Amino acid sequence: MQTFPEHARMQAQRYLSFALDMILPPRCVVSGNIVETQGMISPKAWAELDFIATPLCECCGFPFDFEVDGEALCTACLAYPPRFESARAALKYNDASRHIILGFKHADKTHLVKTFVPWLMRVGEEMVAEGDVIVPVPLHRWRLIGRRYNQAALIGQALAQETGVAHIPDAMTRVRATASQGHLSAKERHKNVKSAFAVHERHVVAIKGKTVILVDDVYTTGATAKECTKVLLKAGAAKVHVLALARVVHNQF
Ligand SMILES: [Zn+2]
Repeated sequence: MQTFPEHARMQAQRYLSFALDMILPPRCVVSGNIVETQGMISPKAWAELDFIATPLCECCGFPFDFEVDGEALCTACLAYPPRFESARAALKYNDASRHIILGFKHADKTHLVKTFVPWLMRVGEEMVAEGDVIVPVPLHRWRLIGRRYNQAALIGQALAQETGVAHIPDAMTRVRATASQGHLSAKERHKNVKSAFAVHERHVVAIKGKTVILVDDVYTTGATAKECTKVLLKAGAAKVHVLALARVVHNQF
């Protein structure tokens, strides 16, 4: 059988990519300005993205404005310790990250996931090192039909490819539809997601005794992450870590 030589295939790919760049120049995923390569972010947009860095709450990853000695917890975690082991997010939720996430969620910009993976690896390094299985926050079936893909599962899949950690995209299901959380208060969000999730019966064995990395696009009040954690622990997971692309950061004080 004659095979297409590898170097010829790569050269053809380069030509194709060059031709595509001529017709459809790569654009910044945030600003839409023309950039050099696909997936690149323009310097202006880059400056608008607010990456979360230490110092932060050891548990929920809330960023502090001041240096702290050793491991510190935020006031919210001190008052109500979450049951998840840790939660981390790559970006603060602001206009720039909202723009990216909305494009990823609703405008079929699924290629963005390649841009996200290194960001997630940077903040999630420790949890990835001890994680056994990646589980995305599920979308309700009806929303899945409307949107065609679950953005959290796309992130989970890309992360699994990068790390080699197992990914079970349908490990959890939504057992009832929940209202859109957009305009709900923290208290309403907790009520809205209560008993909304379950671990799929056929995946209980794969979760039992395992360290789970729960993946979502946005961590808002933590209501969804906390409810999913509760359900995963009840199904026998040993520990749950939460990894999100962005998180809402309100001043706690
Ligand atoms: Zn905290």
